[in-house]
Amino acid sequence: MESWTAPDVPALPGRGPALRLHDTATGEPREAVRPGAERATMYVCGITPYDATHLGHAATMITFDLVNRYWRDQGLEVDYAQNVTDVDEPLFERAERDGTDWQVLGLRETALYREDMESLSVIPPRHYIGAVETIPLVGKAVAELLESGGAYRHDSGDVYYSVAAAPAFGEESNYDRETMLGYFRERGGDPDREGKRDPLDPILWNAPREGEPSWDSAVGPGRPGWHIECACIALEHLGTTIDVQGGGSDLIFPHHEMSAAHAESLTGDRPFARAYVHTGMIGLDGEKMSKSLGNLVFVSKLRAEGVDPAAVRLALLAGHYRADRQWTRAGLAEAELRLGRWREACSRELAVPAGAMLTAVRGRLADDLDAAGALAVVDAWASETLSAGGDDPSAPALARDTIEGLLGIDCSRLLCDMSSLGTLQQSVADSPRRQRSRN
Ligand code: ZN
Repeated sequence: MESWTAPDVPALPGRGPALRLHDTATGEPREAVRPGAERATMYVCGITPYDATHLGHAATMITFDLVNRYWRDQGLEVDYAQNVTDVDEPLFERAERDGTDWQVLGLRETALYREDMESLSVIPPRHYIGAVETIPLVGKAVAELLESGGAYRHDSGDVYYSVAAAPAFGEESNYDRETMLGYFRERGGDPDREGKRDPLDPILWNAPREGEPSWDSAVGPGRPGWHIECACIALEHLGTTIDVQGGGSDLIFPHHEMSAAHAESLTGDRPFARAYVHTGMIGLDGEKMSKSLGNLVFVSKLRAEGVDPAAVRLALLAGHYRADRQWTRAGLAEAELRLGRWREACSRELAVPAGAMLTAVRGRLADDLDAAGALAVVDAWASETLSAGGDDPSAPALARDTIEGLLGIDCSRLLCDMSSLGTLQQSVADSPRRQRSRN
């Protein structure tokens, strides 16, 4: 599947320390890439294109974009794969509700996602793969699992994976059985279906259903399940034992546990990923952002309102990627102000030297992507440049390259309309949080 246009990523002098990321499986930070390796592999679960990209998706993709950028800065060749679940129940349900064709809906929302990612300066994956184009591969994998005893056919014709046959089931999430059952029920599983060997067994292959699309495959007609789709794409395009398996924290179970189990059953190699990395959820004004509450904030809608995508990116980078955090208008206004200051400092002819800033930004990012810490480092440099001036003619260019290369924020242009800065300052001052802090 076609991805999107890559942003410019300037090369930077020198190199930072190895990147350490918090691994969900071990509960500890670890170097995902083996010391001495020249290539890094990452798989990040992509969208099911039944709706537009919301800020939760954006936060996840920006997080792994920081990983991608940091690894490239380390001189590593980054092999990155992402899927598009372009056939699944949510697509059929939304298409039915809207009286549209599920394929048209999927193509439209995938196109919008590409535009959103490009606007946010996210480096595209090398392998951008749809579920539909993966069907022959999944069919073959399911047939293999049936043959090895890792899977069984249900009376309905559906094929299930047997968690009892998994080499290390539970080692990715570390959840107890009760927690697993709760999330399995909540997140698309079918623990109560009769005729399964274990309530936690996930579906690998859906037999043909009335009114749903179906494809021929090595395991017969039907369509693939979701977890096996990601396992197959990762194995096919990245190989066994990838460095990072990434996604939102709502994918810890069942999705990533099951994908890892499928891949480990198919290859005999474990772990499936050296680090399982998960991003926190984005809430809106104190509430969880979710489609059931109808309070999703879409990237495309912010763009249509004229919000600079670089400010959206900065606002999302202002909190730690693993923390559940809130999206607020005040946070966006602060990001717009920060962007204005950075751009102004970067546009100076002379600035305070930026070498120490580059070192410090690398240091913050290497420590489990402390983006907020990295932003504070740039803030300090920009404040000093704006207040003291500085005398280094090469500093503005190095600062721009640092900010763009490592953080993905383009500071090569000024805010076009400086009069808007006054309005922004006012809206920050009027925000509820600021009012509280004054009381
Ligand atoms: Zn996935």
